[in-house]
Amino acid sequence: MAIAAQLGTVEAKNFIGGRSHETANGRPREIRDPATGELVATVMDSGAAEVDLAVRDAHRAFARWWDTPASTRGAILHEAAQAVLGKTKELSLLLTAEQGKPLAESRMEIRRFAHTLEHYAGLAKNLRGGYVPDLDEKPHRHGLILKRPLGVCAAIIPWNFPLSLLGNKLAPALVAGNTMVVKPAESTPLTSTRVIEMLHEAGLPAGVVNTVLGDGPGVGTELVRHPMVAKVGFTGSTEVGRLVMADAARSIKRVTLELGGSDPMIICDDADIDRAVSAASVGRFFNCGQACLAIKRILLFESIADEFTEKLADKVRKLTVGPGTEEGVRLGPLHSAEGRDQVEAQVGDAIERGARILVGGKRPDDAALAKGHFYSATLLADVDPASRMGTEEVFGPALPLFKVKDLDDAIARANDSIWGLGSSIWTRDLDRATKAAERIEAGYTWINSVTKIYDELPFGGFKQSGLGHEHGHEALDCYLQTKSVVVAAG
Ligand code: NAD
Repeated sequence: MAIAAQLGTVEAKNFIGGRSHETANGRPREIRDPATGELVATVMDSGAAEVDLAVRDAHRAFARWWDTPASTRGAILHEAAQAVLGKTKELSLLLTAEQGKPLAESRMEIRRFAHTLEHYAGLAKNLRGGYVPDLDEKPHRHGLILKRPLGVCAAIIPWNFPLSLLGNKLAPALVAGNTMVVKPAESTPLTSTRVIEMLHEAGLPAGVVNTVLGDGPGVGTELVRHPMVAKVGFTGSTEVGRLVMADAARSIKRVTLELGGSDPMIICDDADIDRAVSAASVGRFFNCGQACLAIKRILLFESIADEFTEKLADKVRKLTVGPGTEEGVRLGPLHSAEGRDQVEAQVGDAIERGARILVGGKRPDDAALAKGHFYSATLLADVDPASRMGTEEVFGPALPLFKVKDLDDAIARANDSIWGLGSSIWTRDLDRATKAAERIEAGYTWINSVTKIYDELPFGGFKQSGLGHEHGHEALDCYLQTKSVVVAAG
């Protein structure tokens, strides 16, 4: 059955002051299924007036939420996580309808969102300051280090993981005692709006989280520039991250920026080739290649290059392409026509500069897929490092393979990028693994593993991949400010 028919009428509106909020002068935006072009919902884009209303509401709710015991804040997140897990089936269908990813990946994303909520709910009783005795020779003079919330925090989310990237901001910010205004990506507002309603059903007081729907210039910029917003948590492209940072600089707002990447995967001559091949296939083609931490470049030691390439090509040819709702589909559509155009142009540029297509390199022939934004899983060899595929982020299902002479060459090539988000090395040699982990300029290095992230480990980019951290205790620190107090006897 078509996805729109399975879902029935879908509505998403701003959520302000604990209830759905009609936009006064909204502009309609159609949300369409990327696999079929079917209309899923029509939502209203907001503007400056709604941003102001939402920020003021979050500001009013702040004092009460900060006064709420941290354990109660954690308990509400725990309730919400359980409620979300209980609705996995409905939410995953909605997520696939608006984003395009296979249902199994949508379910995974919903579990990830709930896990993040649970993780920070567990840390709620662990918010800690510090105590410094004997500050100077005078008796009874000591120091206290207080951790306090920032106030109203904005969360600006991209379309590739609408829910898990929301959870990365929402959970630490709320546990730390902040209130929020969320702007989902304009093309994926449905699941996140529903989940934010569910947080309130689980006991979140009105005004603590507000949602404003709309685009970057209309809502995103207004939110970043609003004088009552203390901090912006942004995930998206490096290009927009730069604009957000410049806008935030006007009033010295705190920012966490999680931006683009071009993650290298180094395969040494002593690697377990079969495991590396499986990992490369998942790591590149998960979410149709539209992940910040996807493997975007493979750097192969020459002696194993042919074996690795043949085995990977075999695997990639077998990836089933189709709508995310069909059982067994591994590669859904790209999220948008523009996203597919960009990958096509990058592949075209590589071919013009001498690259060879090993697999794919075109849209699928199947006429049933003609209305969706599909592109075949693609592997390329002999790619010019100076081509667009070598220098730009490839945000889709196309993977360039490069040969390297040795580990030093591989590390130099890995670091020859404006980005530094993720990376991996495949080797059985501990010295090689350690050297790569130390030298690669990236926020994550996996050794004999790829792309799996943990709420327990801090995640943040080096270089132009970002600023600040999500996950780990570090994310809580990014939503707290530190204050020193000196206590002397009266
Ligand atoms: P994008 O930068 O175009 O948009 C991200 C969000 O910013 C959207 O909600 C958009 O409406 C908003 N926005 C646009 N212009 C704005 C402005 N001037 N001010 C404020 N907000 C504005 O990114 P995208 O295309 O949605 O997402 C893909 C990019 O995100 C890729 O580069 C990917 O690598 C990156 N990403 C990074 C991470 C990470 O954790 N590092 C995770 C996922 C995606």
